[in-house]
Amino acid sequence: MLEIHEISVTPFEQNCTLLVCGETGKAAVCDCGDAAPVLERIAELGVDVELILATHGHLDHIGGTHALQAVCKVPFYFPEPDEFLREGLSEQASLYGWGPLTPPVVDFHLKDADVVTFGRVRLDVLHCPGHTPGHVVFYEAKSAKLVAGDVIFQGSVGRTDLPGGSWEELQNSIRTKVYTLPDETIIHCGHGPATSVGREARTNPFVRK
Ligand SMILES: [Zn+2]
Repeated sequence: MLEIHEISVTPFEQNCTLLVCGETGKAAVCDCGDAAPVLERIAELGVDVELILATHGHLDHIGGTHALQAVCKVPFYFPEPDEFLREGLSEQASLYGWGPLTPPVVDFHLKDADVVTFGRVRLDVLHCPGHTPGHVVFYEAKSAKLVAGDVIFQGSVGRTDLPGGSWEELQNSIRTKVYTLPDETIIHCGHGPATSVGREARTNPFVRK
């Protein structure tokens, strides 16, 4: 069974997710904006990290990934259309007044319909552009859980005014990739509390089913 631990990181209060296979103790880290609190939680739980994922290339989602890679020495999976954001990580950092950041090294490029596995967990990769061109989300059907990054939040949606953003694409992603999942699916959001597909499909003020 997939367990998800949320760790609030960076001044943007980004939810890094530590995904753990309950049967094997194998784990994956998604959206590591800052390594220190994530490494602390990994040690506390005693899990064995096998891979690092990112939903998209914004600094609060990948800013700590290079430092995490240095310790964990496991592959990093990242969507190719967001390469301009990964390569421009230093510019993102100076734009927001952060200290210097080193871009993480990508081992595999993620695309729609890829499958990522660790332990006995199988994650489907769904391409959901709009917030950024490459944005992907990770869905585990067995436990009905979705790691949604900055596509959709409880009662809100991701910004589309940043480089590469598109409001048309975001609405389409939410309607065709998120609202088509079972209603009971728990959505773990990049910011704020978790929600469910059914709740957002009925009540989200920006995009309804
Ligand atoms: Zn973002």
